[in-house]
Amino acid sequence: MAIYLKELLLGLYLLSHSDYYLERLAALGFGVPLLLFAGVFAVLLVALWLVAHVRLAAVRYLFALLFFASTLFFDVYNRVTADYLTYSTFVSLIYSGGFIDEAFYQYRESILRSSVGALLLLFGIALAPRRRLPLPEYALVAAPLCGVLLLTTILFARSGEGARGLPAMYTPLTYLNLFAYEAASSTVGPRETVSLPRHAQAVGHDIVLIVDESVSGNYLDINAEHGVRSNLRQSPPGATVYNYGYAAAIANCSADTNVTLRYGGTRSDYLRINSTMPSIWQYARKAGLRTVYIDAQRVGGRLQNLMTRSERREIDEFVQFDHMPVRDRDMAAAQKLIELLGNDTAELVYINKIGAHFPVHDKYPDDFMHYRPALPRGQYADISDTGERDGFDGQADDWGRYRNAYKNTLLWNVGEFFARIFAQARLDNAVMIYTSDHGQDLHERGNPGLDTHCGGDPVVEEGLVPLVVIQGGGLRDLDWQRELAGNKDRSSHYNIFPTLLQLMGYELTALQAVYGKPLSQHTEDEFTFNTRFNARLGEKPNWKRIDLKEVVTPVLQ
Ligand SMILES: [Zn+2]
Repeated sequence: MAIYLKELLLGLYLLSHSDYYLERLAALGFGVPLLLFAGVFAVLLVALWLVAHVRLAAVRYLFALLFFASTLFFDVYNRVTADYLTYSTFVSLIYSGGFIDEAFYQYRESILRSSVGALLLLFGIALAPRRRLPLPEYALVAAPLCGVLLLTTILFARSGEGARGLPAMYTPLTYLNLFAYEAASSTVGPRETVSLPRHAQAVGHDIVLIVDESVSGNYLDINAEHGVRSNLRQSPPGATVYNYGYAAAIANCSADTNVTLRYGGTRSDYLRINSTMPSIWQYARKAGLRTVYIDAQRVGGRLQNLMTRSERREIDEFVQFDHMPVRDRDMAAAQKLIELLGNDTAELVYINKIGAHFPVHDKYPDDFMHYRPALPRGQYADISDTGERDGFDGQADDWGRYRNAYKNTLLWNVGEFFARIFAQARLDNAVMIYTSDHGQDLHERGNPGLDTHCGGDPVVEEGLVPLVVIQGGGLRDLDWQRELAGNKDRSSHYNIFPTLLQLMGYELTALQAVYGKPLSQHTEDEFTFNTRFNARLGEKPNWKRIDLKEVVTPVLQ
């Protein structure tokens, strides 16, 4: 029996992760990916078995400790969050290392529970082998190194993906290799503090960035003849509306766009900037502004769009609408904004609206059912956004109803949103920038599929967003008019962060050198959006240029 103790311990360790492996197997289905997965799994298992038979005790102990720590880290994360540890989360966790004491205390029970499985692995490797494998010592030592190297190569080529379902104790060690590579090429690093020069006085007015959700630039009346009434066509009393027309999004997925809007990543350097440079909140505080984040999409303090807890601490007021129906949350955001614009405190306000993400069946009240026939009502009242497509088949008729429901939603969440703000808010002492995170594929060309955005091969409309500046009558900050004609239908999300910095009083030459051109300058933008945003390590981003001649607009109803 004792002769098999090692195998028994290692076997039990693997069994403790059986759910994790089986889940991956089920997701893979039958085919080539399964064969490749099984091949790598087998190689990694053999490597584990070999390292457990290294004869030199000190070397064996060292590997035992490394794998123990690695699996413990992986398992605790999984137990605490019920989520798979991805590479980018791993990187964030490393940078929140300062809170390790807190985490250790808070999660001590999970840590204790996870140690049971991890100890099986520790002893499975560390126990003196009762058998002498007919292999030279160096081959036994090289085996786990080759295992980690193999997995590192796979993950490098796949931007950190590919370890899912493989023996867990390899994953964090592999991530550590990738991290070392990225640290050496400075695409990751500790977050910098604000060093851009700015004028001495504090900003005396509000700066607001309103980021809508899934509002395609081609569906609003500011850009298309039969577009939905946005109430942005005319300037309200007390402010001037500058319409920059069609703009290119950062990417066609919410999180990618939002994180870049908050950190200022540029087309050529967004990975480094987004992960190591100061956030918009840091710049705002340095300029004397109070920071407010209104998230109409999530509730219960949940963070989204790649916001971390440490970023959360840079926000003075964090607003969500916990008990508010999804349909009314943009109106609640409008109400909150009206309060903030009237409170005599200079603030940076960043809003993630509900907008018009799938499902749009119930995102507007009955009074706003102007476009018919729309999607059936009543099924999705509590859902902000989802990947589920029950009851929606993606046939031409379905999409026809979808576009009508979408337009009704815009009438409410864009048109009524601005109507209320323009009627009730104090506009004279604020600059507001309005855009959407990305556009939509509403399948106008009869193209098949159920998705509206975020795919790898998008139509141009997915990257097409509105871009509007609303400047209070009391302000003479920037000369928007000067470059408006040249920048209209030619600028992008990438011009927003530098515009915000310029509004905050940071020096133009210095900010441009890092973040590119603000809307006050001739933007000369490339007018592209990124369809492969998570292109770290071995991958390159993929830029899709928007040709406005291809854009489909709504027809008269
Ligand atoms: Zn989105």
